[in-house]
Amino acid sequence: MNYSEMDRLKRSRELIINIIEKKGRENLYDLTGLGGGFQIEESQKHLLETYVGPAIFSKELNDIGISHFGGNPNIHRAVGFNRTSAAIFSTIMALSNEINRVIHYLPKMPSHPSIPRSCRIFNIDYFESDNIDEVLDKIEENALTIITGATMDHEIINLDHLKEIISQCIEKNSLSFIDDASGARLRLLYNQPPALKLNVDLAVTSTDKLMNGPRAGLLSGKKELVDKIYNEGLKFGLEAQAPILAGMVNAMKNFKLEDLKKALDRAKNIDLTPLSSENIQYIRTPTGFALCLSERESIDLALKLLENYGIITIAAAGMPGASKTLRIDFCSKDAHRLSDEYIINAIIKSKKYI
Ligand SMILES: *Cc1c(COP(=O)(O)O)cnc(C)c1O
Repeated sequence: MNYSEMDRLKRSRELIINIIEKKGRENLYDLTGLGGGFQIEESQKHLLETYVGPAIFSKELNDIGISHFGGNPNIHRAVGFNRTSAAIFSTIMALSNEINRVIHYLPKMPSHPSIPRSCRIFNIDYFESDNIDEVLDKIEENALTIITGATMDHEIINLDHLKEIISQCIEKNSLSFIDDASGARLRLLYNQPPALKLNVDLAVTSTDKLMNGPRAGLLSGKKELVDKIYNEGLKFGLEAQAPILAGMVNAMKNFKLEDLKKALDRAKNIDLTPLSSENIQYIRTPTGFALCLSERESIDLALKLLENYGIITIAAAGMPGASKTLRIDFCSKDAHRLSDEYIINAIIKSKKYI
């Protein structure tokens, strides 16, 4: 069948409603890796108010957020934004009067669009590269240096490169900022230190990535800088409100690196030969695997997986424009409720229909 993006989204939402009504949420399995978890305790509900909520949860978020980044409460602060993109935008906006350039190193191009787009709005010259020497050469006083810890496809930075860039920033008196959206946790899995232990000025992470929290951005770094950026973000409504702050705090409290390690082991060890036997091509990713299909096949298969097996993937339920790669992510909160056999069988059986 040939779906437009909106038709696909409508269809996947119908299928989700149908399963919830007929069989219940426990028969749906979100394997997107972006669960948007919202863990809230009964005792917290009455605090989710405009002024009471932030009083309580901003303080908790500050403490736990600093520690998530390995920072020091005497030097650092942590605050919540609606999204990682909102924190990035606020940072560039707040610094736009004192910098004339953003220099961005990533382990693999391209950047998340929020960085170049924010620069364009404030007429700031933007340079990005995955060539370390090129970037080291360009670092200068009137620039903000951004470093992506792990890309959207989970390509992870080399720790020596990261350290070299930060020491060059310190030497040249250039502000440094790690976009650690998924990297804050992925880098830990590869035995790298958390961002603030590396002496950067600022770091941001998403509580939705490799963590069961809302889609929100946690910004942390030197106190004066974070205050300035937060204050700028407030003017435009980019700051997280009480319910999101509470969801962020709870996700961080419940985060266990051990659980992530288990998910990575599962991704590494899952036996995918039954897929090859059926001529279904795949590639392994750090957190799961992806099928090599055309866009059309991906969407059709993803919708079948949802309809008949309750499996939610980004290819079926993602927003218009999201990646159409059919990807299974074992860091998802529902992954532990499904066996490898169930998932592989669901793919093989559904493939026969498309
Ligand atoms: C996901 C991601 C972002 C944006 O996060 P949102 O919460 O969706 O705004 C920015 N940078 C990187 C490297 C990301 O992976």
